[in-house]
Amino acid sequence: RQFNVVVTGASSGLGLATAKALAELGNCHVIMACRNFLKAEKAAKSVGIPKENYTVMHLDLASLESVRQFVDNFRRSGRPLDVLVCNAAVYQPTAKEPSFTAEGFELSVGTNHLGHFLLARLLLDDLKQSDYPVKRLIIVGSITGNTNTLAGNIPPKANLGDLRGLVGGLNGVSSSPMIDGGEFDGAKAYKDSKVCNMLTMQEFHRLYHEETGITFASLYPGCIATTGLFREHVPLFRLLFPPFQKYITKGYVSEEEAGKRLAQVVSDPSLEKSGVYWSWNKNSSSFENQLSKEASDAEKARKLWEISEKLVGLA
Ligand code: NDP
Repeated sequence: RQFNVVVTGASSGLGLATAKALAELGNCHVIMACRNFLKAEKAAKSVGIPKENYTVMHLDLASLESVRQFVDNFRRSGRPLDVLVCNAAVYQPTAKEPSFTAEGFELSVGTNHLGHFLLARLLLDDLKQSDYPVKRLIIVGSITGNTNTLAGNIPPKANLGDLRGLVGGLNGVSSSPMIDGGEFDGAKAYKDSKVCNMLTMQEFHRLYHEETGITFASLYPGCIATTGLFREHVPLFRLLFPPFQKYITKGYVSEEEAGKRLAQVVSDPSLEKSGVYWSWNKNSSSFENQLSKEASDAEKARKLWEISEKLVGLA
């Protein structure tokens, strides 16, 4: 049978390039889990994904109700789930004020972390039931949340502190909208959300890898300076960022190449090890990368897991 991969945020950038790379494998069906149905359909057509290799299903990660509906719809489709890729993200580097999800969580952490946390927790049962030899749960990370790297040290740095804002619900009223309890900073909120993504992957691995055989992984695909992620940045930044990454930091990677990298983490037998944060070197070969101190703090991962369970209504 075809193997079935759910990719969130497959309507642009890395998610779309990954859907394309997976479809090219021939035996893969991609469920494009997207908030904008029409955009996703058009995107799939524009990159030439054959009709039999994809289905678009509605998912708005900024609403926990929508996440639950997506899971119901997916189950009703009767398809087994073999791989889940949590890829979608919002980034608001120039926002002066926070915005919020349907449940009132600050938007970046609410979408990138909490929406995916609920989705992954609910779909874990479906992954367990898959009879396919490859069963994986992948959460896209980023170097920007990684303070042991040069890029991760550009201020504002990620820092979850003692998680007091998260405990308070990130609502900007009775609690700070930021995980560490500080003033709102859109760029930092994104980086914090990426640290949450990497901590969540490790806690999944610790709790479920042995019992289920599922491979849990995260990755930094390289700097894909051309994606929609930077859409809210100032125009000058958007103009200079791609050449800066290409010629100065040399961290630049094309959307196509990044999509191939993520597709490797989805299905390549040599990337089967669980609990790994994958990166690629200059000649595009993958290696197990080190996470920063905070992004590999097991105690923080456990706390984050418990608080997140409460916020999304699982505990
Ligand atoms: P894009 O902005 O191109 O893609 C983000 C995707 O997420 C879009 O499909 C977008 O949908 C979707 N999305 C946003 N909000 C929601 C929501 N509420 N519900 C459902 N989907 C949503 O960015 P990238 O492709 O660059 O980012 C993809 C991943 O790669 C992210 O996890 C990002 O952190 C990571 N990453 C990116 C890097 C880069 O350099 N670009 C580097 C390292 C990691 P829509 O099309 O409707 O807007």
